[in-house]
Amino acid sequence: MTHTILIIEDNQQNMYMMRFLLEKNGFIVIGAENGLEGIDQARRHKPHAILLDIQLPEMDGYAVAAELKKYGELKDAPIIAVTSYAMVGDRERILAAGATGYIEKPIDPETFVAEINRYMSMDRHDQERQQ
Ligand code: MN
Repeated sequence: MTHTILIIEDNQQNMYMMRFLLEKNGFIVIGAENGLEGIDQARRHKPHAILLDIQLPEMDGYAVAAELKKYGELKDAPIIAVTSYAMVGDRERILAAGATGYIEKPIDPETFVAEINRYMSMDRHDQERQQ
C-alpha cells in the first residue's frame, strides 16, 4: 500500500531533504509551506501521517497540531513534530498539542524513514500509551 505523507515545513532545504528521503522509499509526499496551507492540504488529502515543523511563520506548529486534532477524519494520522528545539518542556508541549512524537533536526538520513515508519505503525493504543 502506498502511503501519503504531508510535510508542513517552511525551510526549503529541510523540505527537500525529507521529500527526497520519503519519495526514495516509495511514499507520496505533499508539501505545505505554512500552517494554514498545511491544514487545508491535510483535510483535502487525508494523509497517512503529517510531519510538522514547529517554527513556522504566523501560525506555529503547536497551533497547527491543535487545529489538526479538531478534525475527526484526521484522527488516525500521526502528527510527527520536527523540531530543532532541545529545550526542556518542548517535547511535552508538542505532545500536549496533539503530536504523536517528534524528530529532531537536523534530519538524520540514516534513521529518518525508519522513525517515520515506526510512528506510522503504532496503533492508537500505542500512541496514547506513549503520551
Ligand atoms: Mn521552520
